[in-house]
Amino acid sequence: MKTGCSIYRKPRPIEGAEFPLSDAADQFRRRFFPNVTTAEWNDWRCQMRLRIRSLVQVEQVFQLSDDERAALSQHTTGLPVGITPYYASIMGLDDPSEPLRRTHIPVEQEYLKNPGEANDPLSEDQDTSTPGLVHRYPDRVLFLTTGTCSTYCRYCTRSRMVGQAGGEYQFSTRQAEQALAYIEAHPEIRDVLLSGGDPLTLGDEKLDWLLGRLRSIPHVEFVRIGSKVPVVMPMRITPKLTAILRRHHPLWLSVHATHPAEFTPEATEALARLADAGIPLGSQTVLLKGINDDVGTMKTLMHALLKCRVRPYYVYQCDPITGSAHFRTPVSKGLEIIEGLRGHTSGYAVPTFVIDAPGGGGKIPLSPNSVVGRDGADLLLKNHKGEIFRYPDPHGSEG
Ligand SMILES: *Cc1c(COP(=O)(O)O)cnc(C)c1O
Repeated sequence: MKTGCSIYRKPRPIEGAEFPLSDAADQFRRRFFPNVTTAEWNDWRCQMRLRIRSLVQVEQVFQLSDDERAALSQHTTGLPVGITPYYASIMGLDDPSEPLRRTHIPVEQEYLKNPGEANDPLSEDQDTSTPGLVHRYPDRVLFLTTGTCSTYCRYCTRSRMVGQAGGEYQFSTRQAEQALAYIEAHPEIRDVLLSGGDPLTLGDEKLDWLLGRLRSIPHVEFVRIGSKVPVVMPMRITPKLTAILRRHHPLWLSVHATHPAEFTPEATEALARLADAGIPLGSQTVLLKGINDDVGTMKTLMHALLKCRVRPYYVYQCDPITGSAHFRTPVSKGLEIIEGLRGHTSGYAVPTFVIDAPGGGGKIPLSPNSVVGRDGADLLLKNHKGEIFRYPDPHGSEG
């Protein structure tokens, strides 16, 4: 275990040092990173540098199951292991079944390739216009800015490309220039989604440059960032970052959230800073077996998001990425969850359940059937209690 954060040759004021530090995180810091000061703990570059990445490091913090140990000792290539100390501090250190831990520490099932699984199930590579730019829908593009994340979710849909140092999708100005040139040359592109990897692992200057370049393209009306950083490395959301982001409005952000346990005082502060910077916040959640696949957990998660001014956007059926069978639920689970939310809680708390169609079909929404049939001129509708209501829709059957 690295016991200090030695990226600085000489002391300098540390950005975001006034960030909140919860008791749980502080106890964790004292126990496992005693040489890291609270100011360093709250510096996102230290969090990146101190990430828990190898069997030896994982074992110093977590009580491992045989399955986890075997998986970690076989781990060589592919999706790297990486957990920020902050995120580790909210995981169950002694309990291999704890939800957040299961999403980040590999188990042996990860090495099994099951029928229907693929490394690029969404065929993103096929819709790639320039390296790292996926143009699938008529008016919007997915811009993969970097292959780096602060933490690596084992169910990652882009595990084929993330994490490799110097790999295909590391941020490169040359590659970004190619993508920008493509966007400039395609006036139909009005919406750019920055993803990766996690765009908020880029330094302030790079982000500012990229957002500035996008904003200077007249037909780009809407820019959004997809990120898990607010919940896994919340100290990244510094006053300096929010000052940069607010210069590039209209800018939206989608937070990848997995479980209510992520909503600590730190994550709450990070989301508040983003919301206060005028950034409309949405969420995306992957439905995961034994982790968030019940109505109670999902409802608590959606409420936690709303309290942080995040509007739930998508819940995804888990993509059939190689080695993901242990995470995937039947599709009916997602429908059951939507049924358990719709009408039972605020409409704002109900996300859209989607399957990103294997083969590159794009996101396809699924919803529980509320139209149960027709009776003459009446449409028969089922409400959240399962009761049937009639709506007079005399011309509905004609068209
Ligand atoms: C998800 C996605 C988008 C954005 O889709 P919205 O439904 O507009 O949020 C754009 N391009 C690709 C390739 C995507 O996967």
